[in-house]
Amino acid sequence: MCKLNNFHFVRFLPLFFLLNISCLPVKASSALAAWSLKSNGVLELRTRKNSNLKAYYQKANQLYGDRFWVDFNGELLNPRIIKGNGPVKEIRLGKPVSGITRLVIEFAPQKSINPYELKLIGVNENKWKIKLTSFPLNSFKTIKEGNVSKTSFSSQKRNQSISVRDINLRITDLPNIKRNKYSVVIDPGHGGSDSGAVGINGLKETDVVLDVSKIVTKLLQEKGVSVKMTRNKEVEVDLSPRVSFANKTNSDIFVSIHANASRGKKSYINGIETFYYSGWRGRLLAEKIQKEILKVSAGSPDRGVRRGRYYVIKRTNMPAVLAEIGFVTGRLDSRRLEKKIHRRRVAFAIAKGILEYFKRVG
Ligand SMILES: [Zn+2]
Repeated sequence: MCKLNNFHFVRFLPLFFLLNISCLPVKASSALAAWSLKSNGVLELRTRKNSNLKAYYQKANQLYGDRFWVDFNGELLNPRIIKGNGPVKEIRLGKPVSGITRLVIEFAPQKSINPYELKLIGVNENKWKIKLTSFPLNSFKTIKEGNVSKTSFSSQKRNQSISVRDINLRITDLPNIKRNKYSVVIDPGHGGSDSGAVGINGLKETDVVLDVSKIVTKLLQEKGVSVKMTRNKEVEVDLSPRVSFANKTNSDIFVSIHANASRGKKSYINGIETFYYSGWRGRLLAEKIQKEILKVSAGSPDRGVRRGRYYVIKRTNMPAVLAEIGFVTGRLDSRRLEKKIHRRRVAFAIAKGILEYFKRVG
């Protein structure tokens, strides 16, 4: 069908590629041509030109270790499992659904990878790269199939990057509580001309906490909780209107969300802390939230649950907490807070803490 003689092949190589694409059978073969997980922790992929890839991460559970996978269009001829070595348990190539190829890298138990930095980068039209692990160099031997370094005819840079979706963040993973029973006020700190703390790379507290607060609100609403926000856009709201608004709603709890800054912007200061003003309910709520945020903030110090005299938690007349979800001035925290995926994880953590609290107090 698409055969050309040698003379034409040499002269009309771009045309050949075009024709080749148009000749693909209805059920296309896999867009994955070759892959290599190198001993430096970098996964390289060679694909059909201009393929659409989707990448996912899932943290370990009882059945599996940490997993990273990529879905490609087209089907494999022979699904297979390749034994890993060192921290890499195995690599699977399969067909999760008709018309898709899935490359799964599963890590050994207790060998977790850090999902925050994961980005799949398009090097050119048919090559992709992602740094998966920071295990000590040569802690495993390169595992590969095929030759990843074959380049396509045009090596034009794509500069495309694909975010790795964290499939742990599913609404069904949050605890269930009685629907239409509970109500919450979410208070994103600062706003408008009051940007709050400004950190590394100009990262603004107001932007971070508004994004997190909106996600918390959505998650809680999906769980049947009534939620009101003291602000849902970039506007300045004084502290006393926040409090009087909250008190008028007669809600069960008040949660203020902030990000921290250290004096003198010391980049080595990072950490999570949650404040309450008084009462066992406030303390319990703070403990639940603090615990969950720490779980998604690996390496960030636990600055603890503490009593604080902040206006918004002191003057509100329901159990009230103020969570500091990390330092915008801290190197570790700010690198995470500027990423959407981490803000989603923090929002999940806060929503989970709130739902756990309601489960406990009934
Ligand atoms: Zn603040």
